[in-house]
Formats: sequence, C-alpha cells, structure tokens
Amino acid sequence: ELANRMAERVADVVKALMQNGMMVTQNQSIDADTAELIIEDFGHRVQRVSDADVEQVIDSVVDDPDKLKPRPPVITVMGHVDHGKTSILDAIRNAKVVAGEAGGITQHIGAYQVTTDSGQVLTFLDTPGHAAFTSMRSRGAQVTDIVVLVVAADDAVMPQTVEAINHAKAAKVPMIVAINKCDKPSANPDKVRTDLLQHEIIVEKMSGDVLDVEVSAITGKGLDELLENIALQSELLDIMANPDRSAVGAVIEAQLDVGRGPVATVLVQNGTLRQGDIFVVGEQWGKVRALINDQGERVKEAGPSVPVEVLGLNGTPEAGDVMNVVETEAQAREIAEYRHQAAKDKRAAAGAATTLEQLLAKAKADEDVVELPILVKADVQGSSEAIVQAMEKIGNDEVRVRVLHSGVGAITESDIGLAEASNAPVFGFNVRANASARNTANQKGVEIRYYSVIYDLVDDVKAAASGLLSNEI
Ligand code: GDP
Repeated sequence: ELANRMAERVADVVKALMQNGMMVTQNQSIDADTAELIIEDFGHRVQRVSDADVEQVIDSVVDDPDKLKPRPPVITVMGHVDHGKTSILDAIRNAKVVAGEAGGITQHIGAYQVTTDSGQVLTFLDTPGHAAFTSMRSRGAQVTDIVVLVVAADDAVMPQTVEAINHAKAAKVPMIVAINKCDKPSANPDKVRTDLLQHEIIVEKMSGDVLDVEVSAITGKGLDELLENIALQSELLDIMANPDRSAVGAVIEAQLDVGRGPVATVLVQNGTLRQGDIFVVGEQWGKVRALINDQGERVKEAGPSVPVEVLGLNGTPEAGDVMNVVETEAQAREIAEYRHQAAKDKRAAAGAATTLEQLLAKAKADEDVVELPILVKADVQGSSEAIVQAMEKIGNDEVRVRVLHSGVGAITESDIGLAEASNAPVFGFNVRANASARNTANQKGVEIRYYSVIYDLVDDVKAAASGLLSNEI
C-alpha cells in the first residue's frame, strides 16, 4: 500500500525497510513513524491523514432545528427467554400489518412498521433480546428509542429480565413493561410489579412513572393498549429528525444473498435515503440500486425511522454499522478503504485491551464528572451486594463508579457485550468467565479481572481513580 501510494516498487520499499533494520514482508503493517522515515528516504512528502480529514465529509451536516419533524419511535422488545418476546412481536405484526396492503406478504427484513388505531406509526425491531441491542450499540448505532420489557406473569422477574433492565438503563432508553401471559390461570401480574420494585422500576399501578400493560400474545388482549402506551411515551420523548437531508442510517441485519449480492436492512435515522444515493457503511460502500420495504415492495425512498432493504453494496456490512450518504463515489471509496485499513491496524495492534487506567483516562476526556462504568459478577448474592455497595461509596465530585450490572454466576458473553458497549471492565468475584466469554473479551479488548478478596477489588478501583486525579493539571 505504501509503495503504491508513492508509486515505487514494492521490492524497493521492502529493501529500504530491511536496510533500516525492519525485517518485514510486503503485507505486513508498519507503524506511522517508520512509514514517515521511509517516505522521506524516497524523497516524497509526508501527508498524515487523520480520521478527522477523511471523515469530515460525513460530519459536516448540522441540522437546522426548524427543519426537524417528528419521526416514528423505534422499539426493541427485551426480556427473559420464553416470556413471549417473539410471540408479542408476531401478534402485533399479524394484527396490524397483514390487512390493507395488496398481496399482503410481509417480509422479514429485521424490522417492521405498524400504525396504531389512533394513527401513530411505530417501528419495531424484529430481533428481540439484549444481545442484538448491545452489539448494535457497541458498533456505534443506538437506534432504540423505547424498550418494551416483557415479563411473563406466571414466572415474574428472572435473571435475563434483570439483564434487560440494566442494558436499557446503560443505554438510557426508557422502558415500558408488558406483563405477558395474562391469559394463564397461574398468572400473577402483581408479583411482577412487586418484583420490579427491587430493580428500581416502579410501574404506574404502584404509583410510579413506568407504564405497564397486562397483555396476552395468545389472545391478543392488551396489545392495542400496549401500542397506545408506546405512542404516548414517544410523544413525551420528542423524537425528531430532518427528512430533508442526506441520509444517515444503521444496519439492522446484513447478509450475502445468492441472487441479489450483499443485502443490508438499514433503519434510516435521519434524512431520506433514495435510489441512486452513494453511501459508505462501515468498511463498505455502494450505490443504492433498489430499496425494498417491510411489505416486500420496491420503494423509491425511505425517510426517518423507516426500515428498508438496500441493494447495491460492494460488500456485506455488519449489524450496527452506520450508513452515511456522501456526494461522490470517490469519497465513499476513500472512506471505506481508510476504515478498512484502520480496522486492520487496530487488530494488528494486539493486546490493546482497555485497562482500568486507560478507561478512566478516556472517560476523563469526555466529561466533567468521570463515570467509571463497571460490571460485577459474584458467586453469591451477598458478595455481589457488598461489592456494589462498596463501589458506590468510591468517588467524589470528579470521579464516580457506576455499576452497570451485577449478578450471580459465571461471566457470560452477554456481560462482555454490555461491557464493550459501555467501555467497562468486568470484575469476577470468586467466579470465572466461561470459554466463549473469554474469547469474546480477548477479541473485543474487554478487561476481565478476578478477585477473591473484596478489599483487593475496592483498593484497585480506588487506586485507579486516585491515580487519575493526581494526573490532573
Ligand atoms: P421468547 O423466548 O421470549 O421469544 O418467547 P416466545 O415468544 O418464543 O414464547 C415462549 C412460549 O410461551 C411459547 O410456547 C409461546 O407460545 C408461549 N406464550 C407466549 N406468549 C404467551 C401468552 O400470552 N400466553 C400463553 N399462554 N402463552 C404464551
């Protein structure tokens, strides 16, 4: 690549590197300083390209507040396994989408839109659960405006319910509680409500401000009320976008389709995406050849909160990648290539795991009050609670420890997902990470620390925090 850019022969560049004591092959990455030396050796001029230079075409659009218009809210359904997330999503789709449209063949493209009886349009993400939610968030796409927390009335609050609550809280997304399976004789909705109190969720019926609805995905009872409540909540949130600008979206899902090539479902977040638009999405780019909506119809354009399948990509992006429309193919290609190289360099710089100190330094740069987010997993409830209490006592005006999630049991992939999305380390107290969690943590650079003495854990966090304070200028 370097030889290419200098229009020199690869062999000459490798030779020059070797003469400088670098035994490299032509496909190896070299660091920027070495590259600079070599470039000067060859008598070329160095031009360092930073993220800011390449990406500035993307960030340059600022929305005029006058142009903002309300857009439909985007909803993710979360909750414990088997509590009825999929059933609720299907029941809403069947009740609201099939009617009307000619042909009426709904397409599963990863998200769908419904219209409530009072005329409000809502966009549902079709992949329930917090794994998808968190992996999107860790790639930079926060698309969800409202979380519907599904809790089965015959089972009440379970471990994944708690995880879902903590994921929603970490993302600062408001929740609505759907108490499901109320058709069952064993249903006990009030148990759900009291269980939720322990997790600081006070529902309306307990005089709190979290909306709760009793539903049944099987009989359909309460689903209309749930939709109206979502509409109500979204009005309070003032959800806006500017349809009259170039589009920004997020990839909901993507795959390589045998007949159609790479296909991505994109949820437009701002602006309007049109056929013919040139775009960059993650490390890929393309030109919109066709747009297909959730009814399987070809459409010419898609505005804010509309999910569409996009054809015309040069490669398959990943869920959570952000799509930006740009002016020219040259720009799109340059940004995609730059990102591809940057990602490769990042992978090459192995061992670049985030340590506690780095995390703090990063957090410090962002805000006045540094919040150090952490996750705690322990062998027993008592230890977990004791650690959380100790952690919450650490801190002062400048540094604060925030426990995103705490629980009992081994460290799982879901924990790593949340940690990555929030740039948090994971503390294991007398528990270990399971194999898949360990692998994911290594790949994503999430730090896991193990302890068997609470004071050691507290001391480490304190030391990191005070070290940071003394670094202050
Ligand atoms: P998920 O894992 O949260 O997506 O749960 P599913 O939607 O797959 O539902 C799990 C099981 O609960 C299935 O057998 C459903 O038929 C059943 N189920 C879901 N909702 C209801 C409900 O409202 N009432 C009853 N009786 N069963 C339900």
